[in-house]
This record gives sequence, structure tokens and C-alpha cells, in this order.
Amino acid sequence: MTSIVSNMFDMVFTQAQLATLSPSIKAPYGLIDDGAVGIKDGRIVWVGPSDQAPKAKITHALGGALITPGLVDCHTHLVFAGNRADEFEARLEGVSYEDISRQGGGIMSTVRNTREASYDGLLDLARGRVARLKAEGVTSLEVKSGYGLDLECEIKMLKVAQGLRSELIDIETTFLGAHALPPEFDDADAYIAFLCDTLLPKANALGLVDGVDGFCETIGFTTQQIERLFIKATELNLPVKLHAEQLSDQKGARMAAGFKALSVDHIEYLQPEDVPAVKQAGTVAVLLPGAFYYMRETQLPPIEALRRHDVPMALATDFNPGTSPILSPLTILNMGCTLFRLTPEEALKGMTLNGAKALGRDREVGSIEVGKKADMAIWDVGHPSELCYWVGQAPLINRIYQGALDRA
Ligand SMILES: [Zn+2]
Repeated sequence: MTSIVSNMFDMVFTQAQLATLSPSIKAPYGLIDDGAVGIKDGRIVWVGPSDQAPKAKITHALGGALITPGLVDCHTHLVFAGNRADEFEARLEGVSYEDISRQGGGIMSTVRNTREASYDGLLDLARGRVARLKAEGVTSLEVKSGYGLDLECEIKMLKVAQGLRSELIDIETTFLGAHALPPEFDDADAYIAFLCDTLLPKANALGLVDGVDGFCETIGFTTQQIERLFIKATELNLPVKLHAEQLSDQKGARMAAGFKALSVDHIEYLQPEDVPAVKQAGTVAVLLPGAFYYMRETQLPPIEALRRHDVPMALATDFNPGTSPILSPLTILNMGCTLFRLTPEEALKGMTLNGAKALGRDREVGSIEVGKKADMAIWDVGHPSELCYWVGQAPLINRIYQGALDRA
């Protein structure tokens, strides 16, 4: 349809079902039947029907396989040591959350393990996890800190996250110092002051921070405390996002919208009357059905209001050891449909274009459009809805990152 170069392309894929997710193509999923996509210098340079595909140095005829944009997992806590299977088991044997917490369990057990782990040990663990995500087509990934809660370990976590950039995947790092109150502090205000005055500026000066997040909740930090952190982030020119309204309505999303947050995440308890503020701020609603499932939550996010106000909805794994130990973005697509009643098109858009939007990266990735990075996934399915339908099928044929196939 459009072309921006005249010389020969590096690679062209033909005979594909092309789910472009491009808003300019009006068919569901931006679908082009028997489509082709041309790549040069790691970028998408041509998109259109197979019979008009230009010549390239290498041509892959796909025989009807599906191509989608590479998946974008826009909310993970991927860097940590240890796991919490013992707590999972204890709770099913009837031990209360409070007792587990008193015995040093919960998030503090992950903080202890992560502080004790070496950079190399953490990187090894994280690499294995990234390999699982890539095996399901992920090409862009957000990774949060938040299990260090002190200067040394938060910086170690962010460096590990950046270390993952050698794994042929885009990494966005998020500073989540305001995840929980560490044992060294008994005053949450003093800890927030330490984050604002010391930890965040230092991590940022080292070039380790792409965005700032917090946990706004009765068991986390108050809306006013997070607001102080966001004022500091804004001073440092860093975009913000928020774990908001997961367990109760703290009006965190409304506050975050005041800072034009990239996203508000979880939002099961977001009230429909607060949705217009989210829309006006251009903020993405990130839905996390994995945590909803593990916590057996029953309060659904306000999906109808989000639809009515046309708020972009993203889906992510929220991969973490406590409430979402799920390394399968395809399972999350399914859960978005089964638990939150998203349509398969909304779900797939949520893990491509809208996931990219939640990272402020939608001009670069998230759809198959001329000029964007050639990050895509090739699937052994006949229709994009199948990505949300099957669980455990392992349908990925190949992944394309910056124009190169994982398996040539
Ligand atoms: Zn989270």
C-alpha cells in the first residue's frame, strides 16, 4: 500500500494472514488476507497484499500463517530471587495472610531473597524468564524494581533489567521503590522522602529509569505519598504510572491522571465516574487478570465504562512471585477474555498496540505499519482469535526482532 524506499528490501514475508492492528485498516484486527510485509534495516517499509509485494533479498512464503505485531508485556516484576510456593501452599492449608506476613512472608520474603542475590544470579534467573516470554512472541517488555527497597538493591535490580537488553528484546525499566515499606523504616513519609531526595535521583542519574511507579493502596502508600513521588518524577522529566484501585478505591487513578500518567494498572475498584479523567489524561488502563485470578478477586474492572469512554485497554502478565507467577502472555490473553469478557480483538490489541501505548512506545512498536520497528510474531493459527482461544498450544512459529528471525 505504501512504500518509503525504492531499493531492494532485506526481507519480505508473503502469503500471510496479517493482523496489523493498524488503526488505519478498518477490518477487525487490521487484518489483511494473503498479506505481505517488507523489511529493511530493521524497520517495516512495506505492507500490503501478497500479489503486489516487492522483490527482496530474502522472501519467506508463509502459506497462510498468521503474523501479528510482537507482543508487548507492559507490566512485570520480572527480576527477583526465590519464589513463594511455600506461601501458596500454606494458604491453601488454611494459614491466614496475616500469619504468613508475621512470619516474615509475603513481599518481604522476596525482598530478603533479592537483596541476598548477586547481580549475576538475578540476571540468570531473569534471562530464563525472558526466554519463556519470547517463546510466546514477546518483543517489548517492561520490568519494575521494587524488591530492593534500598539504594544498593534497587539499583542492582534496575541494572539487571537493563542487562536483559542483550536478549534481543526491548526493555523499559520502571522504578518501583514505592512498592512496600522496607524494614529499615517505620515511617512511610520518611521513606517516601528518602525515595524523592536520594534513591530516585541517584538511579535516574545513572540512566537506569524510564518511568516511575508506586503501589497506592491501604497496604501500600497513600495517594498523597505517591503524589509527592510523582512531583519528584515530573521534576526529573520521568513519566509516571500507578498500581491503582486494586483492592480498594483510593482515587489513585484520578491523582495519576493529573500527572498525565502513562497508565493506571489493576483498577478493579476504579469507579465509573472516575473513568473520564483517565480518558482525558490519555492514560492507558492496564488490566491484569493474572493477579485477579490468583487472588480469586470478584470485583471486575469497570470494562463497560472504559469502553464507553474509549479508554485504551492493555493486558499484561504482571509476572511476580506473589500474585501472578504466570510467564505465559497467551494465557493472559485467554484470561482477559474469560475473566474480564474482553473480545479477542480487544485482548490482542491490549497486548500489542495498547501495551505499547502504556509504555509510551506506540510510535515505534505495537502494530504492523510502515516506519515502525520490524518486531513481529509468526503463528501457526488460521485466525487471530485463536491466540486467545487455545491454552497450552505453543503456536509460535518464529519471532522477528528488529527485522531478524530468532530461528533462521
Ligand atoms: Zn504489579
